[in-house]
Amino acid sequence: MLSMKHITKKFGKLTVLDDMSLDVHEHEIVVLCGPSGGGKSTLLRTVNGLEKINGGEIHYRGELVTSKNIKKVRSHIGMVFQSFNLFDNLTVKDNLIIAPTKLQKKSKEEASKKAQEYLDSFGIGDKMDSYPHQLSGGQKQRVAIVRSMMMEPDLMLFDEPTSALDPEMIKEVLDSIRRLAKMGMTMIIVTHEIGFAREVASRMLFLEKAKIRVDAPTEEFFTSVEDERLQQFLSVIL
Ligand code: ADP
Ligand code: MG
Repeated sequence: MLSMKHITKKFGKLTVLDDMSLDVHEHEIVVLCGPSGGGKSTLLRTVNGLEKINGGEIHYRGELVTSKNIKKVRSHIGMVFQSFNLFDNLTVKDNLIIAPTKLQKKSKEEASKKAQEYLDSFGIGDKMDSYPHQLSGGQKQRVAIVRSMMMEPDLMLFDEPTSALDPEMIKEVLDSIRRLAKMGMTMIIVTHEIGFAREVASRMLFLEKAKIRVDAPTEEFFTSVEDERLQQFLSVIL
C-alpha cells in the first residue's frame, strides 16, 4: 500500500531522516517507537506530504507520489496528532461533517448519520451537539479520530495520540484504535504505550538518530532482536 524508498529529509544541515525505507501492506499495523528527536513525527509527516523530502521516493498503491497527485493521495490518509486540532467554535457534529460535506459533497443528512454511528461506536454518542471545550481530553481525541474516519481513509497515521492525556483517559482512546484495528484499518502509529503496541502491532520499528535501527515482527522485536540501543530503550520504558 505504501512504499517509502531511501527517504532523506533535512532541516538545514540537520539530517532528520537518513536513507529510510519502509513498506506498509494493507491491514498492517506498524508501530514506531524510539527516543525523542529520532525522526518519528517527521517520518509520519512525509507520508502525507506535510514535509517535503530531499531524496528518495514514496509510492502509494503502486503510484509514485509527486506534487501533482499529493492532494489525491492525502485524501486517502487520515492523521491524528497529540493535540486534538478540533475547531473550537464548532459543535462536534459540525467538526465531523464539515470535510465530508465540503470536500466530498456528501449531504448533511448522510454525513450526520455516519458521524452519529461512529460516535456511538466510540462511546460518545451523546456528544453530537457539544462544543470541544465541554469535552474531556479523551473525548476530544476520540472525536478527532472520528473526524479522520469520516473521510473514509485507507491509511491512518497516529502521532502519539495519547501523550497529552491523563492516564484514565488513555485507555478509552487506545480502545478506539483497537476498534479500528478490528475493522482491518491499515495504520502507522507512533506511541510509547508499549503494552498496547505489543498487542496490536504487526510490526515494530525502532527509530533512532534519523535511522530505522530495527524493523521486526512484533514478537521478535520484544523477544529476540539483539540490539543494544533497543534493549536500553525498552528497559527504560517497560
Ligand atoms: P520525534 O518525533 O522522533 O521526536 P521529530 O521528527 O519531531 O522526532 O524530530 C526529529 C529532529 O528534527 C529533531 O532534531 C527536531 O528538532 C528536528 N525538527 C523537527 N521539525 C523541525 C523543523 N520544522 N525545523 C527544524 N528542525 C526540525
Ligand atoms: Mg514526535
